[in-house]
Amino acid sequence: MTVSEELFERSQRVIPGGVNSPVRAFNSVGGTPPFIVDAEGPYVKDADGNQYVDLVGSWGPALLGHRHEAVIEAVHTAVDHGLSFGASTVGETELAETVVDRINRSATNGPAIDQVRLVSTGTEATMTSIRLARGYTGRDKIIKFAGCYHGHVDALLSEAGSGVATLSLPGSAGVTQATTAETIVVPYNDLDAVRTAFEKYPGEIAAVITEAAPCNMGVVTPGPGFNAGLRELTREFGALMIFDEVLTGFRASSAGYWGLTSAEEGGWAPDIYTFGKVIGGGMPIAALGGRREIMEYLAPNGPVYQAGTLSGNPLSVAAGIATLRNATGQVYSAIDRASSHLRQEVGAALDAEGVQHSIQSAGNIFSVAFGTGENGVRNYEDVKASESYRYTAFFHSMLDSGVYMAPSPFEAWFLSAAHDDAAMDRIVSALPAAARAAASS
Ligand code: PMP
Repeated sequence: MTVSEELFERSQRVIPGGVNSPVRAFNSVGGTPPFIVDAEGPYVKDADGNQYVDLVGSWGPALLGHRHEAVIEAVHTAVDHGLSFGASTVGETELAETVVDRINRSATNGPAIDQVRLVSTGTEATMTSIRLARGYTGRDKIIKFAGCYHGHVDALLSEAGSGVATLSLPGSAGVTQATTAETIVVPYNDLDAVRTAFEKYPGEIAAVITEAAPCNMGVVTPGPGFNAGLRELTREFGALMIFDEVLTGFRASSAGYWGLTSAEEGGWAPDIYTFGKVIGGGMPIAALGGRREIMEYLAPNGPVYQAGTLSGNPLSVAAGIATLRNATGQVYSAIDRASSHLRQEVGAALDAEGVQHSIQSAGNIFSVAFGTGENGVRNYEDVKASESYRYTAFFHSMLDSGVYMAPSPFEAWFLSAAHDDAAMDRIVSALPAAARAAASS
């Protein structure tokens, strides 16, 4: 028995499924999740002493790689002043200023965001954004897309991606019908379906929430003009547009997926952004932000209540500021380069084994869909029709070769600025065997 197997037996006794987030479980791929004891740069090490090149990156936050010196130092400095005060700190303002500044530097039509409210998880950010949209518009219904994941908010679990998709669940038990009655689920990349929903419920829809680019049913690229089209439709029907950049924010570019695409689509901006992951550099923090007139609807100045004992935690804020400060142009270029190199190598390895596939990308974020034609996947139906079962063998072959990937075909591949030539070579040399395994499964 390996140490990880022993530890997993022990954890299963006291933690449901042995994990504190279902996406970490190996239920869909089989086997025992390695227990991680250490991480540095592009590597993680497990309790048995195995070292892996990490393609999970804590599910997004590790943009700079693990244990980045400046981030660790910033957290050490913060620790020396105390862990949490439940009172205002200058760091919160600094992080908010950094986020606002970064977004607005990419805005082509005047400021896109004035204020942000810091929370602790992406789930809180999207949950609050919906409450805010409802409070602001005085309307109840929301539109979400099948296959998009916005955290485990009751109203947003219908046909959700990520772990909900991995476990083939339609949603979640324990969510009342009354809660989901106000959620309208439509197919992704389908503006006609959005218009139809708006026409069916005139004056009732508070917001459309969308992932900036879906990365939780695997990556699905928004079609040309899709996000801009959502902006036009929400404006036409008096609803807010909530742009969930929890995963893509400050990863797809220095201003997220929005920063990568909005200028060439006329410089549109959503009403509310949500952020998470990278803005905490591995510590728990997330945020929602938007124009002042909307954000001021939040308590204490406005009627929409939201709060948090640990919101704007000093350690998280310190890690976030240090991460964003070090997320320079070179960092994004390095990740973009590594991503395009890896996509090419994955494609070549799968082609060599005759495995039909498409590589779906949103900037440097990508994933592989098996058994699809060249046109790839456009929505959740396409994802469900793909040969996702091939991923199990692919995943285990990569793991055996020392590459740690998400234990699900419906998650993105995360690279970091620390993925140097040695790490990339290890991944690339693992690909032929993994492609063979995928071909014969
Ligand atoms: N939105 C998106 C797009 C996400 O990818 C996630 C998490 N993967 C969330 C929201 C929820 O964030 P958290 O897990 O921090 O609650």
